[in-house]
Amino acid sequence: MSKIPNPSQKNQTNTAIFERRESKVRSYARAMPRKFIKAQGVWMHDSNNGHYLDFLAGCASLNYGHNHPVMKQALLDYIEKDGIAQGLDLYTEAKADFLNAFESIILKPRNLDYRVMFTGPTGTNAVEAAIKLARKVTKRELIVSFTNGYHGMTLGALACTGNATKRNGAGVPLNNVVHEPFDGYFGADVDTADMLEQRLSDHSSGLDKPAAILLETVQGEGGLNAASTEWLRKIAETAKRHGALLIVDDIQAGCGRTNGFFSFEGMGFTPDIVTMSKSLSGMGLPFALTLFKPSLDIWSPGEHNGTFRGNNHAFVTATATLKHFWADDQFQTEVYKRGEYLSARLEKIADKYGFSTRGKGMMRGIDVGSGDIASEVTADAFDKGLIIETSGAFDEVIKVLAPLTITESEMAKGLDILEQCIRNICSEDVDAAA
Ligand code: PMP
Repeated sequence: MSKIPNPSQKNQTNTAIFERRESKVRSYARAMPRKFIKAQGVWMHDSNNGHYLDFLAGCASLNYGHNHPVMKQALLDYIEKDGIAQGLDLYTEAKADFLNAFESIILKPRNLDYRVMFTGPTGTNAVEAAIKLARKVTKRELIVSFTNGYHGMTLGALACTGNATKRNGAGVPLNNVVHEPFDGYFGADVDTADMLEQRLSDHSSGLDKPAAILLETVQGEGGLNAASTEWLRKIAETAKRHGALLIVDDIQAGCGRTNGFFSFEGMGFTPDIVTMSKSLSGMGLPFALTLFKPSLDIWSPGEHNGTFRGNNHAFVTATATLKHFWADDQFQTEVYKRGEYLSARLEKIADKYGFSTRGKGMMRGIDVGSGDIASEVTADAFDKGLIIETSGAFDEVIKVLAPLTITESEMAKGLDILEQCIRNICSEDVDAAA
């Protein structure tokens, strides 16, 4: 392993201003109390010359790493020529360029025809618009979402989120959503897609016909549960059969994270509505989209509004991202290979300690069976210069969300640290139990 300065040895970050002034709601910062000053590629640097490999990547909003030179240059050029920064939903050159690139590089080659709705800039805004549209189109109220699903923190999206701690923050009843069991929720022998079909087919089951079925193909926050293609296809058929719209929330699993630009590519179904955000801008700038089949475009002008639907800086970097990474198959092929390498390494570590692996593509992790162990491991990793987080109902899954642009040697370096931390902590546990 190459030498990574150990941040804990020298880091006496003064965090007083944050503790004094910033709300207690802050979360990531508590596990990583350093003052970060710059970042490039997969590396982040703090104010005390600590260097960290970033296996969190802004929670998958930095799939192309920090400050990628292509996107950075495109943005600098645009600002230099006084390009529009904020344009509400006005027609701008930057928006036209983005739509043209999205149409020709992403939609047409995949034979997809979606209207593009620019929502407010975060993922939850895109989900909110999606469920609102589904209710408007179908004139139904109920949304079917799934156990361990995560869709955002505004009321509509929060109602669709499984985690009780998050939902309890709402302060009001969260209605008109049922949380059905996700693929594998009752183990491999119970087909929960058949269960949903059965419940919707039986008019005495108590389950009303929903406006939409909303799902992540790989549950990002809920423990990296990857639905099988067969299960997803069945759910898509069920949605169609019962007049519900299928919404795929691709906010975390999309933008190349699980191989294709969309997570559902090649699976044999086409969602009616897709939500996207996180790595869409390619540079961490806030940007979200709700995509839907043209027949669903029944909004009246301004009916779903928002000031920040015209982040033209994000359009510029998103366009650069599409042209640079998605114009041919090369990037996808490389990401696939990196995902296979990641999978093999995690399998090996998991096998050694009797743990299991989760996930798909470059969205994978190890279920260590306990949130306490997982947080000890991630804290130790941070001390050794690796930023990595947990996921799952009990935070029991250590989740690798490295930038997709990571090299194999950088990946190996981070996984070596992770392996060492698991060895430190889990060998102690084994010894203590003996
Ligand atoms: N959907 C999914 C699948 C997500 O992972 C997230 C964020 N983790 C959201 C929605 C909400 O996005 P945001 O935090 O940008 O509102």
